[in-house]
Amino acid sequence: MSGAEQQAREAVAALRDAWGTEPDGVWTAPGRVNLIGEHVDYNGGRCLPMALTRVTAAAVRRRDDDRVRLTSTDPDAEPFEGTLADLGPGQVSGWAAYAAGTLWSLQQAGIEVPGLDMAVSSDVPLGAGLSSSASLEAAVALSAAELAGRTDDQQLRHLLIQAAIRAENEVVGAGTGGMDQTVALLAEEGSALLIHTRDFRTEPVQLGLAEAGLELMVIDTRVKHTLADGQYAKRRADCDEAARQLGLEWLSDATPADVERLADPRLQARTRHVVSENQRVDRVVELVRAGRVAEIGPLLDASHASLRDDYEVSAVELDVVVEAARSAGALGARMVGGGFGGSAIALIRSADAAAVDRAVVAACGERGLTEPATLTVTSGPAARRLS
Ligand code: ADP
Ligand code: MG
Repeated sequence: MSGAEQQAREAVAALRDAWGTEPDGVWTAPGRVNLIGEHVDYNGGRCLPMALTRVTAAAVRRRDDDRVRLTSTDPDAEPFEGTLADLGPGQVSGWAAYAAGTLWSLQQAGIEVPGLDMAVSSDVPLGAGLSSSASLEAAVALSAAELAGRTDDQQLRHLLIQAAIRAENEVVGAGTGGMDQTVALLAEEGSALLIHTRDFRTEPVQLGLAEAGLELMVIDTRVKHTLADGQYAKRRADCDEAARQLGLEWLSDATPADVERLADPRLQARTRHVVSENQRVDRVVELVRAGRVAEIGPLLDASHASLRDDYEVSAVELDVVVEAARSAGALGARMVGGGFGGSAIALIRSADAAAVDRAVVAACGERGLTEPATLTVTSGPAARRLS
């Protein structure tokens, strides 16, 4: 049984247990890993995430009244019960804000969401940088839109992306630039998705990892430094200030010469990251399209160095696992996601998976750091109706 089918079963069982009802349908949406293009999505830049075969499944039953009942198989998630009028900013907290908030933003976008009973189950690790949050939002959004009678097409999916972003920004209160929601709703299996974040234009880029004997390994450091609180907002503020000083709407439009024009060394460094990261994304896309995916390793390494030194969002755990993975034969490795903990990725030859796993565990052990967890990931499809 595929991971998606397993999660679907668990969601259906949870729907029965919690709310004593059978679903009208089950929808899934994937987590993601970002190959390259980090901290550029809010700067109008380009990124290249890939959807995973790990998903959140939502089993959903339409109700005849205005009640909304939500439950999750995550043991830390308290069930939520409310009405269609209680789903907005300030009205829901915790995990339910992601799901209820998405229903709220769909309503704001003019979709007549019906009352619903819903249960979700996910094998995307929560809070590990693989975007369990957007996978939850996307599964909720697609299910509710279809049960509201909308036809699933590209136009609807673009609307759902914006609704999911709005839910996370305004109801959860988390900054998110839109990469995660876009890949969850528009990815194609076997490909990464090049996203032009300023207008959400997307192009699938076929990866050919398996054909090249390669795999992507995710290394979850299993730490999240509290320092991270507020740092995302600070980086965004730095970028906004740099763009303002340069008279640019998007910092991604800065040139290497613009970097030199900034007086503040910190803003220079932030801008240097954004400019160089966009260049690396373009180079990776060129190589992959030319069938040369095995050559992208040094660009992953350079991305890590830029995030560590210019953007200052790495952490000792991330630096240690990236270095250990390379020493054990990875072709390239870098931190992914917001930073200050969370996960790294390594591009490895399939045959090296066990050695890389051992090396990252040993390197953390030697330094008294939390033992990391590794998993190899493959590219999966976008959100869809399963049954
Ligand atoms: P990431 O998106 O990288 O996994 P986030 O902090 O953005 O990390 O989102 C994780 C949060 O999303 C969890 O703490 C939880 O509140 C919510 N969440 C995601 N998936 C589920 C789920 N299946 N059940 C309950 N809550 C979930
Ligand atoms: Mg998230």
